[in-house]
Amino acid sequence: MKRTAAALALCALLAGNARAQAPPAAPAVAGYDVRYEVRIVPTEKTAHVAMHLSDPNNLLHSLRFRVDPERQLAFHGDGHVQVEEETVAWTPRKGGGVLRWAVRIDHLRDESSYDARCTSSFALVRGDDLVPRARVRTAGHAQSRAVLQLVLPQGWSAVLPYAPLSEDTWAIERPERRFDRPVGWLLMGRLGVLRERVAGVHVAIGAPVGSGARRQDLLALLRWTLPALRKIAPLPDRLALVGAADPMWRGGLSAPQSAYLHESLPLISEDATSPALHEIMHVLLRARAGPGGDWAVEGLAELYGLEALVRSRTISKHRYQRALERIAEEGRGVKVVTVARATGAVTARAVGLLRELGDEIRRVSAGHKGLDDVVRALAESPAPISLAHFRSVCESVAGASLATFFDRRELAPPD
Ligand SMILES: [Zn+2]
Repeated sequence: MKRTAAALALCALLAGNARAQAPPAAPAVAGYDVRYEVRIVPTEKTAHVAMHLSDPNNLLHSLRFRVDPERQLAFHGDGHVQVEEETVAWTPRKGGGVLRWAVRIDHLRDESSYDARCTSSFALVRGDDLVPRARVRTAGHAQSRAVLQLVLPQGWSAVLPYAPLSEDTWAIERPERRFDRPVGWLLMGRLGVLRERVAGVHVAIGAPVGSGARRQDLLALLRWTLPALRKIAPLPDRLALVGAADPMWRGGLSAPQSAYLHESLPLISEDATSPALHEIMHVLLRARAGPGGDWAVEGLAELYGLEALVRSRTISKHRYQRALERIAEEGRGVKVVTVARATGAVTARAVGLLRELGDEIRRVSAGHKGLDDVVRALAESPAPISLAHFRSVCESVAGASLATFFDRRELAPPD
């Protein structure tokens, strides 16, 4: 672990020297190095996080984390650390230093099921919980170069949505952000793991040893469907799919380049929709909902989960039509879809609306564009999908006003 920090610091130093002597063709990016060292202690159900900062050029002035004081606690470190109710501000010493804190891993989603959990044999948690969101003050537009290093109990391995650098270290790269931190689902423990490249995506499917997760089935489903999805929109570089059993929450939850799926979820339900592909569509679209946009986010995930099945010929056109009819029935009676959180009925109605929208886009573009182009545009430049943003993306794809579709009571803007 020390070697990694030293190597990074050395790289930074070399870059600094190179800048002085090298020809102008090789400009160095102004940056500072961060190594997140995460030690999982199952007996405490805790992750001990140390953020090692190496910043020889003093580019990072301060950091302000937004924390959940119930989960992220015991902050202390070099320089000045100021802990308030829901924020922790760190002003590191010149050159860098270490900030340490502890994370209580277990988190209940409802009365009896968890959406993060640590047992004696595995830990399943989101990176966001380990390293919370932060605002940074830097010199100019200095960027972080970050790595994650895991210190795990003997015999444990990990499934993470990051590129490995060595046995225990991964690169954390989020080029769209100035401050890199690990996000997405992390599963660590005594695991069964399948790794394979599918349609250009580094897929990793993992679950604790002895759980009933159907890793091979899930991999097969991806091999059938990812090539079909790749024709619609760019796929992520990596996809980490992690599963676990009760008392983990019995549902699916997506996060950047990753998703959690409870082991009881079928790959394809009796109604021919796929909970796994629904979550994978969320990963592909990369966006959360903004005001009035949850129907579109959930509707696109549901519809394109089904599209992936029919376009890959995993299900027949007949079964696809039957599924759409059943979904239409389920959405009947929904008056307004622009609610804060889409229920099952709202999502069902959204599927019908999105298909109508596709028809309207085809009509106004004389058959040149369709809903696939909207999905591609959303996946290529992710931004929170509010009603207004969604409409503007659709209209820019269509190259025309879509007032006939959008100006209806069901799509009334949220209050
Ligand atoms: Zn969803």
